[in-house]
Amino acid sequence: MSTTCRIPSCVQLLDLDQFGEPRSGAAYLVRGERTALVDTGTARSVPRLIDALRGVSVDSILLTHLHLDHAGGAGVIAIAHPEATIVAHPRALAHLVDPTRLEESARAANHALFPLYGRPTPIPEARLRPAADGEVLDLGRGVRLEAIYSPGHAPHHVCWFEQEERVLFAGDAVGHHDVPVDLPLTVPPRFDLEKALATLSRLRSLRPQRIAYAHFGVADRAEARLATYARDVAAWLDRIASLRARLSEDEILLEILGEPKYASLSAANRGTARLCVTGALASLPKDVR
Ligand SMILES: [Zn+2]
Repeated sequence: MSTTCRIPSCVQLLDLDQFGEPRSGAAYLVRGERTALVDTGTARSVPRLIDALRGVSVDSILLTHLHLDHAGGAGVIAIAHPEATIVAHPRALAHLVDPTRLEESARAANHALFPLYGRPTPIPEARLRPAADGEVLDLGRGVRLEAIYSPGHAPHHVCWFEQEERVLFAGDAVGHHDVPVDLPLTVPPRFDLEKALATLSRLRSLRPQRIAYAHFGVADRAEARLATYARDVAAWLDRIASLRARLSEDEILLEILGEPKYASLSAANRGTARLCVTGALASLPKDVR
């Protein structure tokens, strides 16, 4: 299930070279008569995105969620594209205006990884608009993006579903694809298994044909991938819960990140893998211990 597929002509994948690594973080341009950009990557990778968007009029910047590898560059892109409206979950807007808590949360989650993100630039409130669940953004020429509230990975997560080509712009709601870290995306501080599974079943009901992953690329057999991810993420939480019954957090990190397949990961990817473990642990009910 690792092969990517033909990308519909209304969709353009932009490789953000996240953390200096190709095929690690993506933004997507979706074009009808008007153009939407889905996610912006980190503040550190944003110069590359500005280059890619030179000469493009961007009507809407759609942020799937606030994590700094998705929305960290939004403030700089908003300055470079004064024509654009930035659209995000209503609960995300205040943190885009004042990203102080966002920064603190990312720093607390992983101190070593934090410098790789760069610092987010505040966005003036007048540039922002809340996404409504189920709203359809009509880009013209039959290209229509539907907003789907998709909590679980984060409470303020919004997927966007292109109805004509049936492409799901999934942010982090449906996991990784074709990247070295193969763990479910159960990152801190707010992963919620029950909500993640409900989201996955709602996303399946849309009957998508393709998934546009932020990490990384466009893949076909979308419904099967959503079903597989639901099983994987539930099994992963079971494994973490049973490890927690006998080991400390440090011992669990050693046990998982000590596996040979994780030994060769880059520092950034090890940081991401670590987040998948610590976020899963933090999401467990306290009385399981
Ligand atoms: Zn995320």
